[in-house]
Amino acid sequence: MIIEPKTRGFICTTSHPVGCGTQVQKQIDYVRDSGAIKGPQNVLVIGASTGYGLASRITASFGCGAKTIGVFFEKAASGKRTASAGWYNTAAFEKAAREAGYYAASVNGDAFSDEIKQQTIDLIKQDMGQVDLIIYSLATPRRTDPKTGTTYSSALKTVGAPYTNKSVDPLAGKITEVSIEPGTQEEIDNTVKVMGGEDWVLWVEALQAAGALADGVKTVAYSYIGPKITYPMYREGTIGKAKDHLEATAHELTKKLANVKGQAFVSVNKAVVTQSSAAIPIVPLYISILFKVMKEKNLHEGCIEQIYRLCKERLYANDSVPTDEKGLIRIDDWEMRDDVQAAVAEIWPQVTDSNLNDITDLMGYRHDFYNLFGFDVEGIDYQQDVNQEVEIDSLRETIA
Ligand code: NAD
Repeated sequence: MIIEPKTRGFICTTSHPVGCGTQVQKQIDYVRDSGAIKGPQNVLVIGASTGYGLASRITASFGCGAKTIGVFFEKAASGKRTASAGWYNTAAFEKAAREAGYYAASVNGDAFSDEIKQQTIDLIKQDMGQVDLIIYSLATPRRTDPKTGTTYSSALKTVGAPYTNKSVDPLAGKITEVSIEPGTQEEIDNTVKVMGGEDWVLWVEALQAAGALADGVKTVAYSYIGPKITYPMYREGTIGKAKDHLEATAHELTKKLANVKGQAFVSVNKAVVTQSSAAIPIVPLYISILFKVMKEKNLHEGCIEQIYRLCKERLYANDSVPTDEKGLIRIDDWEMRDDVQAAVAEIWPQVTDSNLNDITDLMGYRHDFYNLFGFDVEGIDYQQDVNQEVEIDSLRETIA
């Protein structure tokens, strides 16, 4: 069928298999061109189908030559409904990995559940024995606690006082004003339940109990800090409380991993366009300005450039991993440079509907947004009929 983008709010409800495949191939090419990394050999990526998790899987496989198992929650095509982008991304990734001789297997389901953890561990035991790197890259608005069956929803709200600032509707190209209300204590607690470190601990404990952790294993979860302008609704808001919890969890996990000389880290990554960041108010305008500034300074990076640098220059550069005084890996270093932030702060108050396309990189934001779903990809004829039914090789084999 002919597949066109259908947007609703900040999501696109259709995805293009050929476009997603091309985007994955571009990331693979980037890693191959950048050179091999002496890194992990058996890698589990939780949240492996889009954004930072997908880039982690591609880097592990094509940069380090590692076997990878990816866990994610994606939808196959059904009738006239296309599959989700992460489904098409994974199909393309697995195909390319296998063609290049790299083992790749996937588990599709709720990573928060005991069943999916067990299924993943069984696969690790069968095909890898043990893992030496676990990437934890889930982003989701909901989590069902496997012990109680209670489902928690996260909130994107402030803590304490309301906050009003400008934002952008990136697809309409309009500046808007948003007011974010403070979350209740229950909303803060629920956000920590969903996006904090509790589930990361459950994964590591389950792997440890199964003897699936190699000596010297590393585990890394991703976080964000960003500029003061987004603090009230991000870093100091409900989601920030969850990230505080995630960061504290890294220290706790390193202690738990002492018997295998393992280490847990949180890596603070830069702001990029992903399905998750598109949902956060104010952030799309910040990213549009940031991209303008970083592109002009030749510092621009997307997920793949960030994760390649994370592996090569932080995680596997030396015997010890460089961190800041809080123990955080900072791969947001270029975003947070004083000259970059000063330039963003200068542009921010000047932005209006009429100069949006001149003084920000809204076009770049929009391009990246459509790219997430396989649209607006150079060289693809979107009038061409494509088959929306695409299989992920390893899932077909598991079912067979
Ligand atoms: P994303 O939306 O692109 O990816 C989320 C992944 O989680 C997908 O693979 C999805 O399938 C998976 N997932 C969601 N719910 C699941 C479930 N119940 N079971 C199994 N898999 C599930 O998100 P992203 O932006 O790459 O975010 C990943 C991490 O990086 C988050 O911790 C985020 O806070 C962090 N981060 C993001 C940015 C940014 O600008 N996007 C910046 C810094 C840090």
